[in-house]
Amino acid sequence: MANELTLEFVCTKENCEGGPNTPARYIGIASDENRCSDCFWDEQDIEVVSPPMEVTHLEIKPLTYILESVWKDEEKEVFYIHREMEEEEPKDTDKVFKYKGKTYLYKVAKITSKEAAMKAIHSWWRGCISLNQLNKKEKGRYEYI
Ligand SMILES: [Zn+2]
Repeated sequence: MANELTLEFVCTKENCEGGPNTPARYIGIASDENRCSDCFWDEQDIEVVSPPMEVTHLEIKPLTYILESVWKDEEKEVFYIHREMEEEEPKDTDKVFKYKGKTYLYKVAKITSKEAAMKAIHSWWRGCISLNQLNKKEKGRYEYI
């Protein structure tokens, strides 16, 4: 049997919440600064934007978003929006990452101001609330709602 070289990287962050042998998802190139998914995203400039409590009981769940601020061209700040994935969505893509127990789809939008990013998120939540109302009213009338 051939000698298989398997490289196992572990998160090198001190006090990683996952414990000392948490597998690293993000491998440092020139250093051994390897990070598991949680530690990596903890070090980015991110904000988790969760839906308000009043709507979390809805049948079609409003999703959580991560707002990441990224510097572009050494001056202009842009915001990437990452979206929580729904249970039934296929997750076999390299655009998916995990953070604090939830799976997110990477960069569903790129927006140039935080205000506009928050507006977008709020409009998606409003869309979800309308969908729930429609779902209640029209149940059984159409195949897909
Ligand atoms: Zn870690």
